[in-house]
Amino acid sequence: MNVFIILFSLATLLQEGELVRFSANFDSGSLGEIKLIDSVWVRPSRTDSVLHLSYEVISRLDPYNPANPDLPPSGRWFYFLMENVKGKHIYLNFKNTDPKRAVYSYDGINFERFPHYQASMRKVSALFGQDSVYIAYFIPYGWERLQERLTHWTATEHVTMDTLGTSMLGFPIQMLTITDPGVPKEDKNTVWLHARVHPSESPANWQLEGLLDRLTEDSAVAREYRRKGIFYVVPFTNPDGVYGGYSRSNARGINQEINWDHPDSLTSVEVEALRRRMEDLTQEHPFDLVLNMHAQSDDKASYYIHTEESTSPEYHKRAMRLAYLTTDENPYFFPEDMFYSSPAPRYVEGWLWNRTQGSTLALTIEMPYFFYNEKPENEWVTLESLKENGTILLRAVSDYLGWDIPGRHILKGTERRNKTVYRYPLLPAGAYNLYIWDNAWVLYDTYIKDRPAGFRYVIRSYNGRYRGPLRVSIRLHNTK
Ligand SMILES: [Zn+2]
Repeated sequence: MNVFIILFSLATLLQEGELVRFSANFDSGSLGEIKLIDSVWVRPSRTDSVLHLSYEVISRLDPYNPANPDLPPSGRWFYFLMENVKGKHIYLNFKNTDPKRAVYSYDGINFERFPHYQASMRKVSALFGQDSVYIAYFIPYGWERLQERLTHWTATEHVTMDTLGTSMLGFPIQMLTITDPGVPKEDKNTVWLHARVHPSESPANWQLEGLLDRLTEDSAVAREYRRKGIFYVVPFTNPDGVYGGYSRSNARGINQEINWDHPDSLTSVEVEALRRRMEDLTQEHPFDLVLNMHAQSDDKASYYIHTEESTSPEYHKRAMRLAYLTTDENPYFFPEDMFYSSPAPRYVEGWLWNRTQGSTLALTIEMPYFFYNEKPENEWVTLESLKENGTILLRAVSDYLGWDIPGRHILKGTERRNKTVYRYPLLPAGAYNLYIWDNAWVLYDTYIKDRPAGFRYVIRSYNGRYRGPLRVSIRLHNTK
């Protein structure tokens, strides 16, 4: 009998080959259940045979949410290691989640998206060239990656780091303050940025990384950003969720995004820590701008813009201006990509609206996972394009706050009856483009300065009277 079992097992082993091992016990790793659906040896030729294995991958659901019991738990995120895959053809069928084209990596650091012929909605079908491969919903941005970048960013005197508090599992909730300490606080705007409320939304951190790399670099433009603003940045508002590979909740099951109006017993310690610090920092002046950085399953970048009816015409106009400044000269993000909503108090934006009645402009910005502008025929989301969205966002923030930046001067005009007069005390020599604002920067004129001198320019009319800003930008290349 025993001999029979051994022979049978041997036969099975020979038939199946060495089985694929699945694991997810690492930073941001997540996997629910694996079911082998089928295994077949296929002989592409008389001398060759390939084992085909197909699996159902059931992604792990977030814990039950005590604060919003009606909300079904999400299982979007997966990130796992497969071993013993070399030379095998593996089929993966994803359940509980919706990857359009997953990503893979042979080293856990450099990820690539599966090519279109190997992956589609909820499916992967691939023959792997190496024995171990990591598979994820999107390129992970885990705790270790953040620590490595924080060490880099905090290596200069204009970046300091501290801790808002401790997560439920004991991770510090880290915050960077980025500014030129030599410029008095009163002369600066204040901007608060936070990301990763939802742990599956790693594109938000890649975008933020692009923004932070630009903001902390040693360049004339970055130095001026730091002279003009104080940036408070919380890269992981939900470190337990990120490290633990959760989808939309913290380790307690709470979706922190909609937790800002709950009673204390049902408020996450992370939201409490954020609120406390935001209150501390705004005792005298509200923030000028708060950005809540996310990623979404809609295949476009978006802002959630609060409607005029739910806020005020003036507030809505400011939100639209920031949105259009972000879509201006942006190959990935377009005016038609916006969503419109009301500032409900369960969100940070609603909490701020109730506190400041619009003094603080607060918006959620979303990056996609797969492609931009709902056009799969165009470029798919890459780390490069997400980081570029970060630098464009920083430029939009600067324009929105009217900052005067080397090579990019935003001038307010003085009204003189039918005309508007713009002045700048000392404009360096160079060739300039002049732009006016019409829901995008519109090239209006060009201007040559032979030597450094005062600048004066008059706009008599543009669609009637023009009272908006004038952007004077150094010409990088010939526009004609
Ligand atoms: Zn989100």
